[in-house]
Amino acid sequence: MSRKKILLTIILAFAVAVAVPLSLRLLPHESDTHVIDFTAKKYGYEPGRIVVKKGDTVILRPTSLDVTHGFLLDGYDLEAIIKQQGLAYLKYTWTDDEGKLHSDWDKVREIEFLADKRGKFTFRCNQTCGNLHPFMTGELVVQTNTPYHLAVSLSLWLTISLLLWFSSGSVSHRPRSRRINLLEAVPLLKRAVKARSFQFLVILPNLVFFYLFVLSALWGSPVGNRNIAIIFVWILWWALLKTVLLPLGGRVWCLICPLPAPGEWVARKTISAVRYLEKPLRGMHHRFLGLNKDWPTNLGNIWLQNALFLVLISFGIILLTRPVATAIVFLVILALTLGLSIVYRGRVFCLYLCPVGGFLGTYSMASCTELRAVDPEVCKEHKEKCCLVGGEDGWGCPWGQYVGKMDRNNYCGLCTECIKSCPKDNVSIFLRPFGSDRKLKSLDEVFNVLIMLMVALVFTITMLGPWSEIKQAANVTESRQLMSFFAYLAGVMSLTVVLFPGIFLLASKTAQSLAGGKVGWREVAYRAAYIFIPVGIFVWIAFSLPQVMINYSYIFSVLSDPLGLGWDLLGTADYPFKPFYPETIPAIQGVLVLTGLFFGLTRGFSSFSDLISGRSERIRAMIVPSLLALAVVNLFLKLYMG
Ligand code: SF4
Ligand code: SF4
Repeated sequence: MSRKKILLTIILAFAVAVAVPLSLRLLPHESDTHVIDFTAKKYGYEPGRIVVKKGDTVILRPTSLDVTHGFLLDGYDLEAIIKQQGLAYLKYTWTDDEGKLHSDWDKVREIEFLADKRGKFTFRCNQTCGNLHPFMTGELVVQTNTPYHLAVSLSLWLTISLLLWFSSGSVSHRPRSRRINLLEAVPLLKRAVKARSFQFLVILPNLVFFYLFVLSALWGSPVGNRNIAIIFVWILWWALLKTVLLPLGGRVWCLICPLPAPGEWVARKTISAVRYLEKPLRGMHHRFLGLNKDWPTNLGNIWLQNALFLVLISFGIILLTRPVATAIVFLVILALTLGLSIVYRGRVFCLYLCPVGGFLGTYSMASCTELRAVDPEVCKEHKEKCCLVGGEDGWGCPWGQYVGKMDRNNYCGLCTECIKSCPKDNVSIFLRPFGSDRKLKSLDEVFNVLIMLMVALVFTITMLGPWSEIKQAANVTESRQLMSFFAYLAGVMSLTVVLFPGIFLLASKTAQSLAGGKVGWREVAYRAAYIFIPVGIFVWIAFSLPQVMINYSYIFSVLSDPLGLGWDLLGTADYPFKPFYPETIPAIQGVLVLTGLFFGLTRGFSSFSDLISGRSERIRAMIVPSLLALAVVNLFLKLYMG
């Protein structure tokens, strides 16, 4: 098919993809009234999911089976307090003669409303009721759910259109060389990163916060949403990391991370100066405090990081809601980094153990920033390789990277030492298009990508879904249901390390044979897995979005009362809980997930270019991984919008 015909087909298909979901709205239906016995119990509602049609009347008969709960329905301006024995208070508002808004509560036995908006709307508890209170939610689905149908239809259209577009040969499959030398463009930034004190100064504020958080987590309020450690680490930091730092700056968090810094300073016996050794000691011009050992070669991969990440997420909901658990994790990491730094040279914790570091590495491949040699030819000529072994102006790379050959972001912690140590001024930071490093190089990296994607799925189901049994099973320290917890763990592990990787490897083998079987399945798997990096980044952003849009008010509260001790330093301790346009969340999540699919497929296709030269073989290799990505994306669309 000619390029013009392909373009026309894509445009026509788009019209169909939009028209079909819209036409479903025209199907006739009779309005109904639904009378529902509605119970609230830690940490969910029964029924957790209410499905009605637009125009139906819903009458809830609420009661709480344990403590007082709230009921706040997104998009419907409906708020109630649910007490025991069928008693509830419904909020109502009125405006007085001077235009001032007032509100009060009506004692009621029923909550009635007209389902007059289509889509999915979350109802949530807004009366702090226990550890998992922020995750106590349910769903109202008003059919026909046009936003969801539209998203599903567009995901299909996008996948088919992109495969067609690839076949037109219009996609540039060479890695883009367009990049901007940031240090050249912003001389002030160059002066800053060249300063010896740069890293110390950017870590310092984080270090202060870190110790404040540990103190607050140990001695402050045990209620998660009243404790600054939980709010700042698991809501603000996590969302910032996923939505801004990682996609834009790659591993820039590692530059400012306060956890390994004390260990590094101890090992170097200095905070910012360089201690240069004229005669190298086992390849480096530095002697560190302690044993100066090198990390065992057979552990020089990210399998341990994958395993530790899985251990951590097994207790994810506990970590996110119990300040003391967060403090324990911080202190264990701090002790580990200190211990390791006096045994091994360099950032071995960051490279091989940090549970966060694993996905920071793989996801940073897609980021819009890279640190590279300005001219690799200059590196070839320069025998001393100061960036790697150290120079008088900078420490040898603590991450063991040689900039002259660095072609991916994975294992560069952006510490900026090489920018200082390079006597040729040949290292810089560049801005580049999203998704520029396209080569996974080993199965541990592939597994990391797959695990991250499935963990996003598990977290979405556990934390954002309406299934209280799953929340209770994960919440073992409170529910004490050991058997349910083990069943939950078994489910999580089977999905993340057996089922999805199994399906993925099968898809890669099928892709390999569809592509003609001339290339190895591992090589195909390395490229196909790349598709799930942009998809993963965007589904994590979609997951983090409600955490911030719903819970941002807690940020103001804890800033005024950081230890949860009843202070009101800024006068915002009682900042009202008011989600920020929560009814828009499913639509934004839909757009994010579809954006991830677009970047995943386009960058994935380019990733195949250095492996399979024939265009039609390359497209055949893409078909099955693309369908798998489409299926995964639709799982997320169902959870977020359906
Ligand atoms: S790898 Fe982990 S501990 Fe090391 S700097 Fe990055 S986030 Fe911090
Ligand atoms: S390559 Fe340069 S910036 Fe990256 S970790 Fe090594 S020394 Fe630091």
